[in-house]
Amino acid sequence: MLIVYNPATGEEIGRVAKHSAAEVKAAVDRTCAAFPDWSGKLAKERSDILRRWHDSVKADKEAFAELLCRENGKCLSEARGEIDYGLGFIEWYAEEAKRVYGDTIPTHDRNAQVMVTKEAVGPVAAITPWNFPFMMITRKVATALAAGCTMVIKPAEDTPLTALRLLEYARNAGIGEGVLEVVVGDPKEIGPILTGDPRIRKITFTGSTAVGKLLAAQCAATVKKMTLELGGNAPFIVFDDANLDDAVQGLVSAKLRNSGQVCISPNRIFVQQGIFEAFTERLKQAVAAIEVDQGLREGFVVGPLVNQLGFDKVVRLVEDAKAAGATVLMGGKPHAKGGLFYAPTIITGLGDDSPLATQEIFGPVFALYSFNEEEEVIERANSTEFGLVAYAYTCALGRSLRLSRRLEAGMVILNSGSVGTASIPFGGIKQSGYGREGSYYGIEEYVHVKYVLMAGM
Ligand code: ADP
Repeated sequence: MLIVYNPATGEEIGRVAKHSAAEVKAAVDRTCAAFPDWSGKLAKERSDILRRWHDSVKADKEAFAELLCRENGKCLSEARGEIDYGLGFIEWYAEEAKRVYGDTIPTHDRNAQVMVTKEAVGPVAAITPWNFPFMMITRKVATALAAGCTMVIKPAEDTPLTALRLLEYARNAGIGEGVLEVVVGDPKEIGPILTGDPRIRKITFTGSTAVGKLLAAQCAATVKKMTLELGGNAPFIVFDDANLDDAVQGLVSAKLRNSGQVCISPNRIFVQQGIFEAFTERLKQAVAAIEVDQGLREGFVVGPLVNQLGFDKVVRLVEDAKAAGATVLMGGKPHAKGGLFYAPTIITGLGDDSPLATQEIFGPVFALYSFNEEEEVIERANSTEFGLVAYAYTCALGRSLRLSRRLEAGMVILNSGSVGTASIPFGGIKQSGYGREGSYYGIEEYVHVKYVLMAGM
């Protein structure tokens, strides 16, 4: 039995029976059995069904937001934002389903025609994390189903309730048995069933780099296509020519979203030497103005960390930093509310090799580093095995272009702290993974290209 707790209160909010290995295999069987019919539907038919799912979930947005808040700990306003974001993918891919175009290529043979078509890759398995229990699922499911794939999805153990409710609405919208399946239980048991089945043609995974590598190794045996959205170590660079108020605002919203438990959260904040003090002062004021609280109330608040493991990691990283001589400008300890609440923290005086700089923090901790020159900061920003997103604030056009070219990341965000929406290709390079989600590029991950030569005309 999986027991689901509200991380803000510790209260039990639900129990879900774990699927046995036999039940998971049966779900995979259904996913495979449903593929011929689903992929054979007209694009417009799949589109209409996705649209019905979208509309029915949207009609109950408040109930989904409340569940999300209880299950994950993020505040209601963030939960509503996540639902809008997640619904945006269903809407986007309901449209995109109709635009999976192929090509004709000028022929190399006078008596032949050359065609290129795109076909659904087949049944797909998805494994998702707990930090966006709604959006991570709609993003993967909508894209796969639009392309004609069927999907079995394993949500995170901390947050299965949103996934199961989404499944219920999917069924009512006409997404039948096998077209979408949800399995819950022990990831170490379920993972190999999904990766080892040769009929599953693709795995899409969002989570840690360690698990992503493990899944990639498991998928090698059956040569599966993969989309991997793994860890990040985002640099956030503020130059002395930036608009400081904008930079502070962008940083605070990017960092405190979901209490910092986001793979695109600014992890290393580089501030140019000449503005370091002024920037830090403004940042302190901005962070001090934000409340920490449980999320079932109006307005933005910083919520708890998702579980004890995540909480202990943040405590350890900050304690190690303090022991290594870092200066704590704010917070630096668990919040007075107790439980899984950690105080928003601002910390400086660390080296680039400190664990706070090399590991993904996943908590409300602003770790600030100073720099002198553009060349220097680009090098420091890039000196990580990760490459998901890089942020920079500068008003200089030439510098913006240089940064966009030279920062090693799948996404470079200039003068904004906001990254995601359905219409952009989300994803990383280096050990942050490969493949893109969202936009026209996202659906390409769920099709393969077929070349057809029609000779002897
Ligand atoms: P996090 O540290 O953010 O929880 P994980 O990578 O551990 O990140 O978890 C992301 C998802 O991967 C979750 O759904 C989790 O259950 C799943 N997962 C964890 N370990 C494994 C594994 N060995 N095989 C398959 N899935 C796994």
